[in-house]
Amino acid sequence: KTDLAERIAMRVGLAQEPGTVHALDDVSLSIRRGEVVGLVGESGCGKSTFGRAVAGMLPLTGGVVRRNGQDIAKLKGAEARAMRLATQIIFQDPMSSLNPRKKVLEIIGEAPRLHGLVARGGVRNLVEGLMDQVGLDPAMINRYPHQFSGGQRQRIGIARALAVNPDFLICDESIAALDVSIQAQVINLLVRLRQDLSLTLLFISHDLSVVRYISDRVVIMYLGRVVESAPTDRVFAAARHPYTQALLEEIPRIDRRGHRFSSVKGEIPSPMNPPGGCHFHPRCPLAMDRCRVERPMLKQAGRDHAVACHLDGGFGRPKPTLFPTQS
Ligand code: SF4
Ligand code: MG
Repeated sequence: KTDLAERIAMRVGLAQEPGTVHALDDVSLSIRRGEVVGLVGESGCGKSTFGRAVAGMLPLTGGVVRRNGQDIAKLKGAEARAMRLATQIIFQDPMSSLNPRKKVLEIIGEAPRLHGLVARGGVRNLVEGLMDQVGLDPAMINRYPHQFSGGQRQRIGIARALAVNPDFLICDESIAALDVSIQAQVINLLVRLRQDLSLTLLFISHDLSVVRYISDRVVIMYLGRVVESAPTDRVFAAARHPYTQALLEEIPRIDRRGHRFSSVKGEIPSPMNPPGGCHFHPRCPLAMDRCRVERPMLKQAGRDHAVACHLDGGFGRPKPTLFPTQS
């Protein structure tokens, strides 16, 4: 396989969800096969729109999604169907995406049955195996969604996604609605499934501390643009974009107890009418005149590390000191 075949490359020029405008401004992301990428940003930054666009659920008005070097929009017939099945999304609220009138057997078994991925009579066996794989008791196969807890329902959603043998899973705030202890269980499940099934994962979250434990790499979005991308360790040790640094300051830390620390100030501007220049300038404590008029492009700031900020001249420049903690 060539390097190209090992990647899912996504460039979304502008995607628009019907009824809403969450514009993406030329977002490019390339994921290596088997990699877990955390996509982080505040609500309205376009991260869900990006996930849907990549899954082929939204029409693109610019850009291209390539898998194994192939433009997925150009595939036809069986190839297009196989590509659609290979990418599955798991949403935040399993209750709203699970049909309340269907038993788990039907919910999980429906897609593989419809797509002929399982022999007639083999559906029950398949569903029982999937339930076991995601930590659900197969004896509950004839129950309805309301008979499960929130965490169990999310496991049903995961089993349903896995039922069509995807190799790429997009988790959109998949654990945000769950209690913290349940969140950890579902993350552990995803980590295990990733290893067992060699999955590639795009893990979308508003919470940097959540993606830390699952992601190899973190991509930070702000108002439709990528502002920083780096290996996870590097984001936590040496983030360079003022917005990323502010997000890090928001994560409560034991060693900072008793200290006040700054967080991202100000309201998020409307994604429909973002500020000019650097979108972050109205909230950035380091903004300069230039930031109001000139868009900072994403530049290499080290190995596998890219930053979009006028303060960051590129590799080798020390990061600006920001948000000093005060006692
Ligand atoms: Fe702040 Fe300017 Fe950098 Fe934007 S480009 S993050 S406003 S310093
Ligand atoms: Mg969202």
